[in-house]
Amino acid sequence: MYKKLLSIIMVIMLVCCGCGKQKEEVVANDLDNIVKKDVLTVGVRTDAYPFGFKDKNGHYTGFDPALARLIARGILGSDKKIKFVPVTASDRMMKLYSGDVDMIIATMTVTPKRRQILDFSNPYYTAGQALLVKKGSKIQSLQDLNKKQAIIVFGSTSENSLRTAMPSMGIIGYKTYHAAFKALKQGKAEAIVADDTILLGYALKDKSVELLPKRYTKEPYAIAFRKGPESTDVIRAVNFVIETETRNGNLKKIQKSFGIK
Ligand code: GLU
Repeated sequence: MYKKLLSIIMVIMLVCCGCGKQKEEVVANDLDNIVKKDVLTVGVRTDAYPFGFKDKNGHYTGFDPALARLIARGILGSDKKIKFVPVTASDRMMKLYSGDVDMIIATMTVTPKRRQILDFSNPYYTAGQALLVKKGSKIQSLQDLNKKQAIIVFGSTSENSLRTAMPSMGIIGYKTYHAAFKALKQGKAEAIVADDTILLGYALKDKSVELLPKRYTKEPYAIAFRKGPESTDVIRAVNFVIETETRNGNLKKIQKSFGIK
Protein backbone atom coordinates (compact mmCIF):
# COMPACT_ATOMS: atom_id res chain seq x y z
CA MET A 1 0.00 0.00 0.00
CA TYR A 2 2.79 2.42 1.08
CA LYS A 3 4.84 1.50 -1.99
CA LYS A 4 1.84 2.10 -4.22
CA LEU A 5 1.20 5.50 -2.59
CA LEU A 6 4.85 6.43 -2.97
CA SER A 7 4.86 5.55 -6.65
CA ILE A 8 1.63 7.53 -7.18
CA ILE A 9 3.25 10.57 -5.47
CA MET A 10 6.35 10.12 -7.60
CA VAL A 11 4.29 9.97 -10.79
CA ILE A 12 2.38 13.11 -9.71
CA MET A 13 5.68 14.89 -8.92
CA LEU A 14 7.16 13.87 -12.25
CA VAL A 15 4.10 15.05 -14.15
CA CYS A 16 3.99 18.32 -12.19
CA CYS A 17 7.71 19.00 -12.64
CA GLY A 18 7.35 18.21 -16.31
CA CYS A 19 4.39 20.58 -16.55
CA GLY A 20 6.28 23.25 -14.64
CA LYS A 21 9.23 22.97 -16.94
CA GLN A 22 7.09 23.01 -20.03
CA LYS A 23 5.24 26.06 -18.73
CA GLU A 24 8.54 27.80 -17.97
CA GLU A 25 9.70 27.14 -21.49
CA VAL A 26 6.50 28.49 -22.98
CA VAL A 27 6.60 31.61 -20.76
CA ALA A 28 10.27 32.23 -21.61
CA ASN A 29 9.23 35.55 -23.04
CA ASP A 30 10.42 38.56 -21.09
CA LEU A 31 7.58 40.79 -22.23
CA ASP A 32 5.01 38.29 -20.89
CA ASN A 33 6.94 38.05 -17.64
CA ILE A 34 6.98 41.84 -17.20
CA VAL A 35 3.25 42.04 -17.91
CA LYS A 36 2.61 39.17 -15.48
CA LYS A 37 4.67 40.85 -12.72
CA ASP A 38 2.93 44.15 -13.57
CA VAL A 39 6.10 46.03 -12.74
CA LEU A 40 9.15 46.96 -14.81
CA THR A 41 12.50 46.52 -13.07
CA VAL A 42 15.20 48.70 -14.56
CA GLY A 43 18.91 49.03 -13.80
CA VAL A 44 19.94 52.70 -13.70
CA ARG A 45 22.97 54.74 -12.63
CA THR A 46 23.20 56.86 -9.53
CA ASP A 47 26.61 58.34 -10.39
CA ALA A 48 26.02 59.58 -13.92
CA TYR A 49 24.39 63.00 -13.59
CA PRO A 50 22.36 64.10 -15.57
CA PHE A 51 21.64 60.65 -17.07
CA GLY A 52 21.18 58.72 -13.85
CA PHE A 53 21.37 60.10 -10.31
CA LYS A 54 19.35 60.51 -7.10
CA ASP A 55 17.68 63.82 -6.24
CA LYS A 56 17.91 65.35 -2.79
CA ASN A 57 14.95 63.26 -1.65
CA GLY A 58 16.71 60.08 -2.68
CA HIS A 59 14.51 59.49 -5.76
CA TYR A 60 15.99 58.09 -8.93
CA THR A 61 16.05 60.74 -11.62
CA GLY A 62 17.78 61.78 -14.84
CA PHE A 63 17.28 61.12 -18.52
CA ASP A 64 17.59 57.33 -18.21
CA PRO A 65 15.02 56.90 -15.38
CA ALA A 66 12.69 59.28 -17.28
CA LEU A 67 12.98 57.10 -20.38
CA ALA A 68 12.34 54.05 -18.18
CA ARG A 69 9.10 55.64 -16.95
CA LEU A 70 7.95 56.22 -20.54
CA ILE A 71 8.61 52.55 -21.25
CA ALA A 72 6.66 51.45 -18.15
CA ARG A 73 3.78 53.61 -19.33
CA GLY A 74 4.02 52.14 -22.84
CA ILE A 75 4.14 48.52 -21.70
CA LEU A 76 2.14 48.53 -18.44
CA GLY A 77 -0.04 51.61 -18.85
CA SER A 78 1.48 53.51 -15.92
CA ASP A 79 4.80 55.22 -15.28
CA LYS A 80 4.40 54.29 -11.61
CA LYS A 81 4.75 50.57 -12.29
CA ILE A 82 8.50 50.73 -12.08
CA LYS A 83 11.24 49.61 -9.75
CA PHE A 84 14.74 51.02 -10.07
CA VAL A 85 17.84 49.05 -9.17
CA PRO A 86 21.17 50.90 -8.95
CA VAL A 87 23.87 49.54 -11.26
CA THR A 88 27.48 50.48 -11.96
CA ALA A 89 29.38 50.09 -15.24
CA SER A 90 30.99 46.91 -13.94
CA ASP A 91 27.98 45.13 -12.38
CA ARG A 92 25.21 46.05 -14.82
CA MET A 93 25.49 42.94 -17.04
CA MET A 94 25.62 40.68 -13.98
CA LYS A 95 22.45 42.26 -12.60
CA LEU A 96 20.74 41.66 -15.93
CA TYR A 97 21.75 38.00 -16.12
CA SER A 98 20.98 37.30 -12.46
CA GLY A 99 17.42 38.44 -13.16
CA ASP A 100 17.64 41.42 -10.77
CA VAL A 101 16.52 43.68 -13.60
CA ASP A 102 14.47 43.31 -16.79
CA MET A 103 16.61 45.79 -18.71
CA ILE A 104 19.47 48.23 -18.27
CA ILE A 105 19.07 51.92 -19.06
CA ALA A 106 22.41 53.15 -17.84
CA THR A 107 24.46 55.29 -20.26
CA MET A 108 25.33 52.04 -21.97
CA THR A 109 27.14 52.15 -25.30
CA VAL A 110 26.40 49.57 -27.95
CA THR A 111 29.66 47.94 -29.04
CA PRO A 112 30.29 44.87 -31.25
CA LYS A 113 31.84 43.09 -28.24
CA ARG A 114 28.81 43.75 -26.03
CA ARG A 115 26.52 42.64 -28.86
CA GLN A 116 28.02 39.17 -28.51
CA ILE A 117 26.48 38.79 -25.06
CA LEU A 118 23.63 41.30 -24.97
CA ASP A 119 20.73 42.41 -27.12
CA PHE A 120 20.09 46.14 -27.54
CA SER A 121 17.23 48.47 -28.38
CA ASN A 122 17.70 51.13 -31.03
CA PRO A 123 20.01 53.91 -29.79
CA TYR A 124 18.37 56.86 -28.00
CA TYR A 125 21.36 59.19 -27.61
CA THR A 126 24.96 59.56 -28.81
CA ALA A 127 27.74 60.62 -26.45
CA GLY A 128 31.51 60.78 -27.04
CA GLN A 129 34.57 60.12 -24.90
CA ALA A 130 36.36 63.22 -23.65
CA LEU A 131 38.82 64.36 -20.99
CA LEU A 132 38.06 66.08 -17.71
CA VAL A 133 41.08 67.87 -16.23
CA LYS A 134 41.80 70.37 -13.47
CA LYS A 135 41.58 73.94 -14.73
CA GLY A 136 44.99 75.16 -15.93
CA SER A 137 46.21 71.60 -16.51
CA LYS A 138 49.00 71.04 -19.06
CA ILE A 139 47.00 68.10 -20.39
CA GLN A 140 45.03 69.29 -23.41
CA SER A 141 44.64 66.07 -25.40
CA LEU A 142 44.75 62.31 -25.10
CA GLN A 143 48.30 62.33 -26.54
CA ASP A 144 49.47 64.55 -23.66
CA LEU A 145 48.53 61.68 -21.33
CA ASN A 146 51.20 59.42 -22.85
CA LYS A 147 53.23 57.90 -19.99
CA LYS A 148 51.02 59.76 -17.50
CA GLN A 149 48.20 58.54 -15.27
CA ALA A 150 44.54 58.65 -16.31
CA ILE A 151 41.41 57.71 -14.39
CA ILE A 152 38.70 55.45 -15.78
CA VAL A 153 35.64 53.70 -14.38
CA PHE A 154 35.84 49.90 -14.42
CA GLY A 155 33.64 48.26 -17.03
CA SER A 156 33.28 51.40 -19.14
CA THR A 157 34.12 51.71 -22.81
CA SER A 158 36.92 54.16 -21.97
CA GLU A 159 38.66 51.50 -19.87
CA ASN A 160 38.60 49.24 -22.89
CA SER A 161 39.66 51.85 -25.45
CA LEU A 162 42.53 53.18 -23.33
CA ARG A 163 43.92 49.77 -22.50
CA THR A 164 44.07 48.93 -26.22
CA ALA A 165 44.85 52.32 -27.81
CA MET A 166 47.19 53.79 -25.16
CA PRO A 167 49.02 50.87 -23.52
CA SER A 168 51.76 53.19 -22.26
CA MET A 169 49.30 55.24 -20.24
CA GLY A 170 49.00 54.46 -16.55
CA ILE A 171 45.39 53.67 -15.72
CA ILE A 172 43.75 53.99 -12.32
CA GLY A 173 40.30 52.47 -12.13
CA TYR A 174 37.35 53.20 -9.83
CA LYS A 175 33.94 51.62 -9.43
CA THR A 176 31.91 54.82 -9.67
CA TYR A 177 32.22 58.26 -11.27
CA HIS A 178 31.95 59.84 -7.81
CA ALA A 179 35.09 58.00 -6.72
CA ALA A 180 36.82 58.82 -10.02
CA PHE A 181 36.05 62.51 -9.62
CA LYS A 182 37.27 62.54 -6.03
CA ALA A 183 40.55 60.99 -7.19
CA LEU A 184 41.01 63.67 -9.87
CA LYS A 185 40.43 66.39 -7.29
CA GLN A 186 42.97 64.76 -4.98
CA GLY A 187 45.51 64.81 -7.82
CA LYS A 188 45.83 61.02 -8.07
CA ALA A 189 45.97 61.36 -11.88
CA GLU A 190 45.96 64.02 -14.59
CA ALA A 191 42.54 63.41 -16.18
CA ILE A 192 39.39 61.32 -16.23
CA VAL A 193 38.63 59.72 -19.59
CA ALA A 194 34.91 59.04 -19.90
CA ASP A 195 31.71 60.01 -21.73
CA ASP A 196 31.28 63.77 -22.21
CA THR A 197 27.70 63.54 -20.89
CA ILE A 198 28.81 62.31 -17.47
CA LEU A 199 31.93 64.50 -17.27
CA LEU A 200 29.90 67.60 -18.14
CA GLY A 201 27.76 66.96 -15.08
CA TYR A 202 30.86 67.26 -12.87
CA ALA A 203 32.24 70.27 -14.81
CA LEU A 204 28.97 72.16 -14.34
CA LYS A 205 28.95 71.57 -10.59
CA ASP A 206 32.62 72.26 -9.89
CA LYS A 207 34.41 75.21 -11.46
CA SER A 208 37.87 73.91 -10.55
CA VAL A 209 37.70 71.35 -13.38
CA GLU A 210 37.09 71.63 -17.11
CA LEU A 211 35.81 69.40 -19.87
CA LEU A 212 38.12 69.58 -22.89
CA PRO A 213 36.37 70.16 -26.24
CA LYS A 214 37.69 67.21 -28.24
CA ARG A 215 35.59 64.03 -28.56
CA TYR A 216 37.47 60.80 -29.27
CA THR A 217 34.69 58.31 -29.90
CA LYS A 218 31.02 57.97 -30.74
CA GLU A 219 29.05 56.28 -27.95
CA PRO A 220 25.54 55.31 -29.07
CA TYR A 221 23.49 54.71 -25.89
CA ALA A 222 20.89 51.95 -26.03
CA ILE A 223 18.87 49.82 -23.63
CA ALA A 224 20.41 46.41 -22.94
CA PHE A 225 18.61 43.06 -22.61
CA ARG A 226 19.57 39.45 -22.03
CA LYS A 227 20.62 37.94 -25.34
CA GLY A 228 18.16 35.52 -26.87
CA PRO A 229 14.72 34.99 -28.36
CA GLU A 230 13.05 35.70 -24.98
CA SER A 231 13.97 39.37 -25.49
CA THR A 232 12.58 39.81 -29.02
CA ASP A 233 9.09 41.00 -28.00
CA VAL A 234 10.21 43.32 -25.23
CA ILE A 235 12.80 44.92 -27.54
CA ARG A 236 10.12 45.47 -30.16
CA ALA A 237 7.87 47.12 -27.54
CA VAL A 238 10.74 49.29 -26.25
CA ASN A 239 11.73 50.37 -29.76
CA PHE A 240 8.15 51.34 -30.41
CA VAL A 241 8.18 53.57 -27.30
CA ILE A 242 11.54 55.14 -28.27
CA GLU A 243 10.29 55.78 -31.80
CA THR A 244 6.95 57.26 -30.66
CA GLU A 245 8.44 59.44 -27.95
CA THR A 246 11.13 60.68 -30.36
CA ARG A 247 8.57 61.50 -33.03
CA ASN A 248 6.23 63.35 -30.64
CA GLY A 249 9.16 65.36 -29.24
CA ASN A 250 8.82 64.04 -25.66
CA LEU A 251 12.30 62.56 -25.52
CA LYS A 252 13.89 65.80 -26.69
CA LYS A 253 11.86 67.74 -24.10
CA ILE A 254 13.02 65.45 -21.29
CA GLN A 255 16.60 65.67 -22.56
CA LYS A 256 16.43 69.47 -22.45
CA SER A 257 14.86 69.46 -18.98
CA PHE A 258 18.05 67.80 -17.71
CA GLY A 259 20.25 70.26 -19.62
CA ILE A 260 21.36 67.64 -22.17
CA LYS A 261 22.09 68.89 -25.70
N1 GLU B 1 28.94 54.73 -22.23
C1 GLU B 1 30.06 54.12 -21.65
C2 GLU B 1 29.82 52.65 -21.42
O1 GLU B 1 28.82 52.14 -21.74
C3 GLU B 1 30.51 54.77 -20.36
C4 GLU B 1 29.42 55.19 -19.45
C5 GLU B 1 29.27 54.28 -18.28
O2 GLU B 1 30.22 54.06 -17.54
O3 GLU B 1 28.15 53.81 -18.11
O4 GLU B 1 30.68 51.98 -20.95
